[in-house]
Amino acid sequence: MKTKIINATLLDVENNKVNYNTTVCIDNSNIVFVGENENLFAQSFVSDKVIDFEGDILSAGFINAHNHNAMTLFRGLKDDLPLDKWLFDNMFVIEKYLNKNDIYYGTQLGLLEGLKSGITTNFDSYFNQDAIVQANIDLKTRLVCSVGATQEQNSYNSIINMYKDLPKDNELISYMAYAHSIYTIDTKGLEDTVCVARDYKLPLHIHLAETLNEVGECVQKYNKTPIQLIEDIGFFEHKCLIAHGVHIDKDDYLSIVQKNVSVAHCPSSNMKLGSGIAPIYSMIEAGINVCLGTDGPASNNSIDMFREMYLGSLLQKVNLHETQIMPASLLVKMATINAAKALNLDNKIGKIKEGYKADLVRISINDINILPLNDYYSGIVYSGKPENVKMTMVNGEILYENGKFADFIDTDKIIFECKNANKRLKIESNI
Ligand SMILES: [Zn+2]
Repeated sequence: MKTKIINATLLDVENNKVNYNTTVCIDNSNIVFVGENENLFAQSFVSDKVIDFEGDILSAGFINAHNHNAMTLFRGLKDDLPLDKWLFDNMFVIEKYLNKNDIYYGTQLGLLEGLKSGITTNFDSYFNQDAIVQANIDLKTRLVCSVGATQEQNSYNSIINMYKDLPKDNELISYMAYAHSIYTIDTKGLEDTVCVARDYKLPLHIHLAETLNEVGECVQKYNKTPIQLIEDIGFFEHKCLIAHGVHIDKDDYLSIVQKNVSVAHCPSSNMKLGSGIAPIYSMIEAGINVCLGTDGPASNNSIDMFREMYLGSLLQKVNLHETQIMPASLLVKMATINAAKALNLDNKIGKIKEGYKADLVRISINDINILPLNDYYSGIVYSGKPENVKMTMVNGEILYENGKFADFIDTDKIIFECKNANKRLKIESNI
């Protein structure tokens, strides 16, 4: 299948500009040309389908760098509680009753919501990884799946047993070694996770320094900050993505600048759980790669990259009483280029560039909420909403267009299964 997009307004995030009248030629899953409509190659490219963007914005697909998609099933359940009560007394209780079918459909519900807001790649850390992977394969979405999760699953052999059975031959699926957190997994489990990363050349992921409680308990138990603890265990000898990093002090974040560490900032989740404001402006200024995540829909309660970009900018401005920091273009960069780097996929996604995968989003320039469009980046970050997304393409295939999902996606079935699962889980768990 060959597709030609014409008359697009391309967001050139790397150079903080926009390119008008752009043509993008796609051969199956690959971008083979990006340039002016008038270019000879563009004109002579024979395609099966031509999509006239009529000046609409063409962005690289958004990349959700921290999520637990199947938690859609718990959306709106036990809101307004602090993280420890919410997590230990409610989420961990009801999660015991989840089966693979629940996780499969709960994941797909989250993926559909993500596609509507232009999300083409998800990092997903949850359990029953085979169901998560299958859910993504069946919807043809790009996934970075965690291997590892709970204390029981984070022995070296358990992670390997899980990993060896997961498919490795699908170009949409890749993996990261994962330890949930320093407060749910002991140091042996954390060490084992690092050993898996070393032996199987996987990047690492962990929730870290999310609340003041976590930091206080860590200092009391280990006489180290969370960053010092995982550094001593060997996390930073590998590529590592930290989720949250709300309470990392200056000495600690300066110590990771030279390492291959990224931070997934989750502003909605941090605000809703009252966790605090991550010092991401200072981290970015120091040279740390910061990207964005929605976190799970039980603590957000939405999978909407527009909202994360908006809050990611405004939260720093209000916290530091400074309007000129965190401009809109930076937030788009965090949701694309920076996230691709954090997920070890920067050689194939995050940019619209020849040789890259065709993960793309079309955003309307004619909707009431972003008119008149004086600045394209501002339109997306400060005014944009999922309803402005007219098309989401993953790996060269259109999965969402003009309010409808691709024909092969059985939306009714996914909704039916999720409603049933939600009802059953509440009865079984008494939550
Ligand atoms: Zn999380």
